[in-house]
Amino acid sequence: YQRIVLASRPHGQVTPDNFRLETLPLPEIREGEILIRNRFLSLDPYMRGRMEESKSYAAPQPLNETMIGGTVGEVIASKHARFQTGDQVLGMFGWSEIGVSDGSLLRKLDTSRIPLSAYLGAVGMPGLTAWYGLTQIMSPKAGETVVVSAASGAVGSVVGQLARQRGCRVVGIAGGAEKCTYVVEELGFDACIDYKAGQLEADLAAATPDGIDAIFENVGGEIFDACLARMNPFGRIALCGMISGYNGEPVSIRNARVFLTMRLKMQGFIVSEHMDLWPQGLQELGTLVASGKLKFRESVAEGLASAPDAFIGLLKGKNFGKQLVRLS
Ligand code: NDP
Repeated sequence: YQRIVLASRPHGQVTPDNFRLETLPLPEIREGEILIRNRFLSLDPYMRGRMEESKSYAAPQPLNETMIGGTVGEVIASKHARFQTGDQVLGMFGWSEIGVSDGSLLRKLDTSRIPLSAYLGAVGMPGLTAWYGLTQIMSPKAGETVVVSAASGAVGSVVGQLARQRGCRVVGIAGGAEKCTYVVEELGFDACIDYKAGQLEADLAAATPDGIDAIFENVGGEIFDACLARMNPFGRIALCGMISGYNGEPVSIRNARVFLTMRLKMQGFIVSEHMDLWPQGLQELGTLVASGKLKFRESVAEGLASAPDAFIGLLKGKNFGKQLVRLS
């Protein structure tokens, strides 16, 4: 089987030679173990952080080991009482076609009403990220204006739909007309601003006539500053990501003064530190996806070898929706 390891740490932009594809013999499982064939690999922005050695909330990805990542797949052999051949499972087997587990941290999935891949997106970590930031940090009331950056993506698309369902006015920010059209027409946001069109501040003012009450921030930099300038008193900000700086670009906050003048509250968070709330979030997200009330879109790269390019593309906005790799 094949896997991809981290071959070297990037300096600035990630390049294909930061990764190495390896072929290994199929492992033998022991008593109490499960062998899984991964069907989909999730590619996520946090992986860029793990490639570095700098201080962060998690330890760096070791060199020459399988790149970290969430996976969904199927049990192909089991010597474990709780798992049987054919079970669909969620695991963290990384950029690899195969996983071996002792059953801990392996979750059985019900794919009768929710597609397998959705457990890596809207009904998985990204969906929970959206749910956590919205419900636990932004706590928007009906009628308030909520702004979401990277709005067409795995996290942003869920934030906006959940906020709409809570009666908010929802404004997205995304790169390009095609993504913005999708955000409004398919996802049902009230408006979406194309930050690449070159008039972010004017467009944001037009889309938020009553100002902004809460921000779900995924990008940082100029986009965040433009939103801060329109905040209403006692606004809340869920600081989820700053993807515009993941390749080492500086991301400062120029409009810091509004935190004082508008008495704002900002909270950064890491979704994996709040697993106590995951069942509650998954309950809402699963019900919504199964009933067609929460829409999502995927960008699917084919085959493990395509993962490095797909990941590099994700960091540049080439994905349109949740970025996955389908493993053959
Ligand atoms: P997305 O599906 O949103 O993909 C990333 C998107 O970011 C791209 O499609 C692109 O959209 C946008 N982007 C990339 N570079 C830039 C840039 N320089 N300026 C503006 N936009 C850019 O990814 P996710 O939904 O998985 O993640 C979204 C954010 O959530 C990330 O910041 C991520 O780190 C964060 N996150 C945080 C978690 C936490 O626990 N705190 C957990 C999970 C995710 P466009 O074309 O519209 O620019």
